[in-house]
Amino acid sequence: MASIYDTAGLEALRVRNAVQPHRMKLFRNALFKKARGWDEALETLPENARTDFADTLRFESLELAERHDSEIDGASKLIFKTTDGHLIESVILRPKTGRTSLCISSQIGCACYCSFCATGKMGFTRNLTSDEILDQVTQASRLVKPEGRSIRNVVFMGMGEPLLNLAHLFEALEFLRAAPLFNYAGSRLMVSTVGIPQAMARFTEQHPEVQLALSLHSARQEVREKLMPQARTYTLDRLREELLNASQNGKVMIEYLMLAGVNDGEEDLLALEDYLRDIPVHINIIPFNEYAGCNLRGTPKAEMTGFSNRLKAAGFQTTLRYSLGADIAAACGQLVQHKKGF
Ligand code: SAH
Repeated sequence: MASIYDTAGLEALRVRNAVQPHRMKLFRNALFKKARGWDEALETLPENARTDFADTLRFESLELAERHDSEIDGASKLIFKTTDGHLIESVILRPKTGRTSLCISSQIGCACYCSFCATGKMGFTRNLTSDEILDQVTQASRLVKPEGRSIRNVVFMGMGEPLLNLAHLFEALEFLRAAPLFNYAGSRLMVSTVGIPQAMARFTEQHPEVQLALSLHSARQEVREKLMPQARTYTLDRLREELLNASQNGKVMIEYLMLAGVNDGEEDLLALEDYLRDIPVHINIIPFNEYAGCNLRGTPKAEMTGFSNRLKAAGFQTTLRYSLGADIAAACGQLVQHKKGF
């Protein structure tokens, strides 16, 4: 069975059933732009082609296993089951601004083992295929449609390290951006990475319009190494070169998680200012989401604001991230691979 994301398979089906290109366009639009259901999408095709399309194409690559809606804000956590029985998570974010975003996973588990991240505690199972990455977008789009919403931004900030699944990430980005398919502007897509320099270079070259976010978390090599094992291989000096390179396409987002007594002191602030000087960045200060089994603590709110204000005073565009979905364990770093069924 071919999936609906297999463009060559779709074309073969079209030819086999002698479907006119304009009817095919209606079918694609129904699936990817209008977030219609399967029956409705099939109805856009000539009657004699519907059975073959229905029998040949797999409509969903993932099964929606659970949905949890936050009671304190507009977040919904979606738990999907892969065909080989693994669980992954996506989060729909409905901030008060009205712009709906979707945070998606790129891998089952993660191999980076950052000390502050719940996903890292689960180990790594496998990369998601591009179908599985894209299906999170399609299914979330269908879920928000009855609310009169559409997914405006897609961020790769769920489970996994997207730049360690480069081939499937690129396939998915191409599909999301293609005008006849999802037609997302690059500015509405953001990929967040722990910082894999060679992959950042390829990303910058192949997807210059797509937003890049770097999880920096410390501009002090020894501190960053303690937080993020990958930092031992990919040093701050090396990352800075890639940041400069990537920022030629526009501002890079710097994510800075604030951990009490770890990366929130004067020395940390000065190192950060020094490190980012003369690079066009947008610094996003992230509150730490605590979870069971992790001893780290978040920096108190007032100190976070102070840190952020100092960065602003030093001329850096800085925002404090407000974390949605904390009550449903959908906030950053709380996406945990479930070991068993439920
Ligand atoms: N692997 C990618 C994307 C997934 S994590 C990356 O590291 O960027 C998305 C963001 O959530 C990253 O900035 C990550 O550092 C942050 N994060 C991880 N655990 C967190 C936690 N417990 N609280 C708040 N943010 C966390």
